[in-house]
Amino acid sequence: MTPILPGATIGLLGGGQLGRMTALAARVLGYGVRALDPDPFCAARAVSDEVLTAPFDDEDAVIRLARGADVLMPEIEQISTRGMARAAEIVPVRPGAAVLEIVQDRARQKEWLRGHGFPVGPYETVSTPDEFVRAVRALTGASIAKVAAGGYDGRGQASVLDPLHAEEAWRAIGGRRCVVEQRLSLAMELSVCVARRPSGAHAVYPVSLNQHEQQVLAWAVLPAPISPELARQARALAVDIALTLQVEGLLVVELFVTSDGGLLVNELAPRPHNTFHSTELACATSQFEQAVRAICDLPLGDTTAARPAAIVNLFGDLWLSDRAPPFDEALAVRGTRLHLYGKRARPGRKMGHLVAVGETPDAAVAAVHEAHRRLLGHEPSAEELGATARLRAGNDPEDNE
Ligand code: ADP
Ligand code: MG
Repeated sequence: MTPILPGATIGLLGGGQLGRMTALAARVLGYGVRALDPDPFCAARAVSDEVLTAPFDDEDAVIRLARGADVLMPEIEQISTRGMARAAEIVPVRPGAAVLEIVQDRARQKEWLRGHGFPVGPYETVSTPDEFVRAVRALTGASIAKVAAGGYDGRGQASVLDPLHAEEAWRAIGGRRCVVEQRLSLAMELSVCVARRPSGAHAVYPVSLNQHEQQVLAWAVLPAPISPELARQARALAVDIALTLQVEGLLVVELFVTSDGGLLVNELAPRPHNTFHSTELACATSQFEQAVRAICDLPLGDTTAARPAAIVNLFGDLWLSDRAPPFDEALAVRGTRLHLYGKRARPGRKMGHLVAVGETPDAAVAAVHEAHRRLLGHEPSAEELGATARLRAGNDPEDNE
């Protein structure tokens, strides 16, 4: 396998904040960057040599990007896999169409996981209102419906408290093919980021502990303050999945730890992930640089957390009050870093994040919360920690993560 060395051009399929941060890391390493995104003002624009403006399902646009790049990498799941498969005849596409095909459809992803013996919670795949009601009846207690294609950050999801509310929930998600999952009692949520080179070597980051509010990530800390045994199990499970999928690039595995101590796979993301933004401060090699190294088949970087780091997400609501967010006050908190994505503010939209380091995971969480509190001017409510529920019903067409 020949490495794709600095000086070459990386083609990003998607130009959202994950594309932007990957582009920044690629630029540091001396790569050129081109991105494909439907929004000409996408987050990656400011740090890319060129943005090719086209919808994600435009096969020919994927080919055009391939003609102007040395390797392609998706930063969002909803890319045309036919386009990716065709592009792979021109340049390497990493991760490739086969992985994206499994992951981009929630039902297919869960079937793949279950079929390969990986632990998932009880769920049913449904396509009609009758099947929906039957699934809600068959699952114990409350359930959560999630559209099979295109949901993210809790969007395209509806809670179903009992079978009486099934029809309402079916309508809320737009009567689309979906998975209905049993609502689990969670002790905590974890994630693991695995990088794998095409020539085979892999590297795995320490486990992240993630706090969601209203189905959206509010904060996360790395390394997770959990028992070494649980961390070992979580990492082994994620590596097993990445190797079985033969991912070329990154794979992030979201995990549930249930109240009775079970470890289940929630979902997979074959790309950089919100919960590993803290690797920019915690580790010698950030997840973004690691993604670039992996897709270019370069030696993978050190994944050790030299010091704990925590992140909080910043949502658009912060920009919509009558005063500008006092970033100066937040940055006065020792060990804090601000990362803004250059996006236009809208309620519930992810606009940036804060990271803080600390001597211990708890200290890192306390520092990042202090910086966040200063930005908000008060203790964050659950609404402010998560996004607002306002946009939850449908997808936000201008966003892509
Ligand atoms: P997204 O693609 O929006 O991240 P997820 O399936 O990861 O969708 O769901 C978002 C969050 O909602 C999870 O991180 C978790 O906090 C909560 N959640 C999702 N499914 C379940 C479930 N079956 N039981 C309990 N909580 C859940
Ligand atoms: Mg998720």
